[in-house]
Amino acid sequence: MQGKKDYQEKLFIRFQLSDYIPADNFYRRLKGILDLNFVYDGTAKYYGTEGQKSIDPVVFFKLMLVGYLENLNSDRRIVATSRMRMDILYFIGYDLDEELPWHSTLSRTRQLYGEEEFTAIFKQVLKKCIDKGLVTGKRQAIDSVFVKANAAMSSLVEREIMDDVATYGKQLDDHNDETAAQDTTAENTTPKPRKNAKIDKKANSKRYSPSDPDARLSVKAGKTTRLNYSAHVSVDTQNHVITHIQACHADKGDAPSLPEILAHVVSNLKDNGIGIEEVLADTGYSGEAALLFLADNNIKGYIPNKAGCRSRESREGFNYDKQHDRYICPEGKYLTFHNFKKAANANTHKIYRTSVKDCRDCPFKDTCVNLQGFKVFKDSVAKDLYIAMHERMQTGPGKRARKLRQSTVEPVLGTLVNFTGMGQVNTKGIGLANKCMIMAAVAYNLKKLVNGIPTKLRKRIRKLPGNGSDGLKNTLLPWITKIETPIRSFKIRRKSKWLNNHLLCKLNYSAI
Ligand code: SF4
Repeated sequence: MQGKKDYQEKLFIRFQLSDYIPADNFYRRLKGILDLNFVYDGTAKYYGTEGQKSIDPVVFFKLMLVGYLENLNSDRRIVATSRMRMDILYFIGYDLDEELPWHSTLSRTRQLYGEEEFTAIFKQVLKKCIDKGLVTGKRQAIDSVFVKANAAMSSLVEREIMDDVATYGKQLDDHNDETAAQDTTAENTTPKPRKNAKIDKKANSKRYSPSDPDARLSVKAGKTTRLNYSAHVSVDTQNHVITHIQACHADKGDAPSLPEILAHVVSNLKDNGIGIEEVLADTGYSGEAALLFLADNNIKGYIPNKAGCRSRESREGFNYDKQHDRYICPEGKYLTFHNFKKAANANTHKIYRTSVKDCRDCPFKDTCVNLQGFKVFKDSVAKDLYIAMHERMQTGPGKRARKLRQSTVEPVLGTLVNFTGMGQVNTKGIGLANKCMIMAAVAYNLKKLVNGIPTKLRKRIRKLPGNGSDGLKNTLLPWITKIETPIRSFKIRRKSKWLNNHLLCKLNYSAI
């Protein structure tokens, strides 16, 4: 017999949100493990004692998290999506008939709170990951990605130089000439994003966006030139948990940023009694400051030297005498240490040179000495560290570290950009961009925290009998996780220590 559903609206119904959210729902499980009550103390200083009540800080941070968990890049969409989802309403503590905060309140509150409030949440979640055993801290992989700024290329204008009128006048004339020349071709003067454009490293000194002055034109071979921020991410290679994230100007190189990033990573892990042993990064991070920081902190780095970096002690025809810290030329003359010299990129060079007298009568003088009549070499003060790094990268662990870096931090960056709302920041200014990136990293780590068990194990648990909040599934889940994880780790470790690390990374990454 054909059925027909009649709908008669009831005047009164009994409805409880918690009855309709399954026990294994992500937001329900997240609500169970995430306690943000500590933010009340930190944010109290931003409010007075009278007037209209503000948005609840916990609700604000939860709505921020919903944005990154649902890959929503707009405050309006966060509120609209939350209004339609019972599980999100349950997570943020709102009932079906309660009015959600206005979307502009999110934007204003994000600007109001300092970065330290966002960092405190990141550290709290990282601590939970550590407590759960998802972070060993032994090996950290670091990489960066460009994140699109909230400014269009069409907003770019020429920088004005007001302090030097003569220079400014000349630039104005040049600009007028250029404009006139361009007008004759009737072309649009607005710079357009171009792929594989000729790299203009001074682009940021010539133009900026008044819409977001902190956004920078990123110039990288093979990448589209556009206004970006740079996000540096440090990932623990054991389970891909993010241990630090930081927004930087897109035109600041990776190498100068590394010491600051490492200092934060060391601090974040040290707070939880963990010390870093190894750091993996790509060639872009190779630099004197980074190598000296690693040496000072007794951390073993796996960072390939840049092309052209000297990885041998001696130079062609000139032998290095390590004992006396000098070079010996083919004619047996010495290039002794002369002085230190600061380079334009803030590196420090050691200068070695002969005396004019030594080279005066040499038959190679014409092709060997400089205009002043002596031979000079400059070496980095971290020369020994560069050589040691080159040798380390040729070893088996060095080659494996290179692959491990690719298989750990790069998928995390891909997930952040494509699925965790970091494709573009919806704010202006580097401070707000940093807050957005921190919350994206918190959302990513929370996924790890909630789903931090291997996929295979989760599939087996799904097959267990029982459903609902009182099911056998929920009783056995913690027990099986507790027992099976050490057994699985032990079995894999017996095969190979390396394989162990690699598999755990794969398993846990697929759990997201
Ligand atoms: S020119 Fe000076 S440094 Fe060069 S080979 Fe002759 S003595 Fe040595």
